[in-house]
Amino acid sequence: MKVIQVHQFGGPEVLQLQEIPTPKPGPRQVLVRVHAAGVNPYDTYMRNGTYAIKPPLPYTPGSDAAGVVEAVGEGVTRVKPGDRVYTARTVSGAYAEYALALESQVHALPEKISFAQGAGVWVPYGTAITALIHHAHARPGETVLIHGASGGVGTAAAQFARAMGMTVFGTAGTQKGMDLAKKEGVHQVFDHSKPGYADEIMKATGGRGADVILEMLANVNLSTDFKLLAVNGRVIIIGNRGEISINPRDLMGRRGTAKGFTLWAATESELLEIFAAIGAGLENGTLRPIVGKELPLKEAAKAHVDVLTPGAHGKIVLVP
Ligand code: NAP
Repeated sequence: MKVIQVHQFGGPEVLQLQEIPTPKPGPRQVLVRVHAAGVNPYDTYMRNGTYAIKPPLPYTPGSDAAGVVEAVGEGVTRVKPGDRVYTARTVSGAYAEYALALESQVHALPEKISFAQGAGVWVPYGTAITALIHHAHARPGETVLIHGASGGVGTAAAQFARAMGMTVFGTAGTQKGMDLAKKEGVHQVFDHSKPGYADEIMKATGGRGADVILEMLANVNLSTDFKLLAVNGRVIIIGNRGEISINPRDLMGRRGTAKGFTLWAATESELLEIFAAIGAGLENGTLRPIVGKELPLKEAAKAHVDVLTPGAHGKIVLVP
């Protein structure tokens, strides 16, 4: 099978297209014929060796694949060959023609969700749902600011928060991104590249602030976020690429909370709730993954450059 492999940590050029034997599923494993693989920002941090998780080399990147079950190993009962599935992590990597996954890592993909969309399910929706439900304890009627609503996690969070009955504010850095955020559920959208936009957000909340802030770039925004919080508000740190100076007093006066998490560390019971919410939302149409760009598998290096380039518009997916 054709597969992208990384033999040494480094820039996008270390992503190499190679041919290796197609793996066979062992007990409780599933072999998925990959029709599309999602590209997430963390794939780039892992590739350059700066991520908390350093896989043994060589490795194939990617946790988010969508495709059809090709074969199942001994003891697998939840899926069978021919089933449409998306993966939430894999054993062998998603940037490939075939991916080996544990039975517990494959989940049903409804007919109405395309494979390209299916490649944008796990990390974006898993993150958005756990951020809102498990970390922010968000409630219908509350106000959420999605600070970075044009990308994979942001559009997922906009759809989910809107379906929950929250008032949804969101930001993007381009007109195209702002239009997308609005289309996917954001009630009022703001341009985070424009000076003074935080004041506009505060004004839009009637001076009350947001109950929940989902933060995609904490090293730029955390200090501002504290000032945009309502009393008892919660900032949930999803994305961060550096350091920032903050004034804790901004939190104290508001009885505010700042909390970070990684999807990797979700507990078994959180995972069950995440998969139930994703399954229901894909089925009833409230969750509709947005594919911004499809590239052939061999262009994985370009995908890694593009995913870190400003001007997000949904997901970038690789097609084997
Ligand atoms: P993505 O699709 O590349 O989107 C990035 C988002 O960040 C876009 O909406 C982008 O807006 C926005 N952004 C850029 N500059 C910003 C600024 N100054 N203020 C606010 N937002 C800004 O990435 P993603 O998949 O949505 O992931 C978002 C971040 O969360 C990444 O850093 C990722 O590594 C992280 N993440 C963490 C977890 C976790 O487990 N904690 C899970 C998934 C993702 P424009 O391009 O329109 O400017």
